[in-house]
Amino acid sequence: MNIERITLTHVRIPLVEPFTISNGSVREKDGIIVRVFSDGLVGVGEASPMAGSFYSEETPESTWGCLVHRIIPMLFASKPVSLDDVNILFHKIHGDTFAKAGIETALRDIEAQKQDSPLYKLLGGKRRDVESGLAVGIYSTVDQLVSTIERYLPEGYKRVKIKIQPGWDATPLRAVKKCFGNIPLMVDANGAYSHDDLEHLCSLDEFELMMIEQPFSKDDFDAHAQLQAMMRTPICLDEGACDCSAIEKAASKKSCRIVNIKIQRVGGLTQAEAMHAVCAEKAIPVWAGTMPELGVGAAQTLHLATLDNFLFPTDVESSRRWFVDDIIEPMLEVHNGVIEIPDGIGNCFQLNERKVLQYKVREEIFQ
Ligand SMILES: [Mg+2]
Repeated sequence: MNIERITLTHVRIPLVEPFTISNGSVREKDGIIVRVFSDGLVGVGEASPMAGSFYSEETPESTWGCLVHRIIPMLFASKPVSLDDVNILFHKIHGDTFAKAGIETALRDIEAQKQDSPLYKLLGGKRRDVESGLAVGIYSTVDQLVSTIERYLPEGYKRVKIKIQPGWDATPLRAVKKCFGNIPLMVDANGAYSHDDLEHLCSLDEFELMMIEQPFSKDDFDAHAQLQAMMRTPICLDEGACDCSAIEKAASKKSCRIVNIKIQRVGGLTQAEAMHAVCAEKAIPVWAGTMPELGVGAAQTLHLATLDNFLFPTDVESSRRWFVDDIIEPMLEVHNGVIEIPDGIGNCFQLNERKVLQYKVREEIFQ
């Protein structure tokens, strides 16, 4: 591997509706498209932190800064010859997983192209169809929530995930059950509850949920273990499952029965594969979450989600679900609840250069 040039393009695309979770709300999607030029090939990745730093401390600005001032100078100075070398360099930087994911996934795209293989086969996946779930945020009224689900459900999504927070849980769940019957349902709290809510959270067992995702803060493995011992519904860790050692800890404490693996949160596909393997060894099924990313990151999540232990629908949805437009060709579409990875090599989707230009906020070239 000889990295000759790296281009960063920060793009911003308006959302179809504000995306609101327990800690904040956004109206636009920021993504940093990373193009790595190496050995006559171009690999494409995406670094995709949420604006407003309410999912993690990372923002589009901090991620841009890390790429420009730390990671890219380090890559050009160290001249890594393999992906292992790159991952060793990444270990020297604490955090900034979104920036690392942007570079690492671009390099994996190149690696797959060199082997004339689609990315999912390089990762060990065997299928091109990935089941998709609909995710909905927090709304001001139950009617708004129900009408959003009504609008998208005809695409056949395999389950519905509702964001919850104290004061917005049982009531919307009851309404959704009433309107949509026994559709598979799960909830995500993004860490919004506390110890005082243990009894209340247990009452959500009545809804027969597939899982409850990250009810408590990311470091509180004990509270999750306590709730899991009291509750029938499986607990899923998202923010708390930051690396393999976090999964080891969660498994030993019995803090969860399911893990959500996000390429961006864990710093790339190498980490995601390792976590998938640790979970499989411990008989913990996983699924692939999103930020949500634009098309490049979403496509890479689809490739990851073809691995054996991904046993629940992914959060990757149709491009048009969240974004007024997307930067890949073809755009993502859900048919009968499934997204199919097109034939091809590497990411199997192409960047639409005209749209990258149209939505560009800034661009820098390094060589
Ligand atoms: Mg989550």
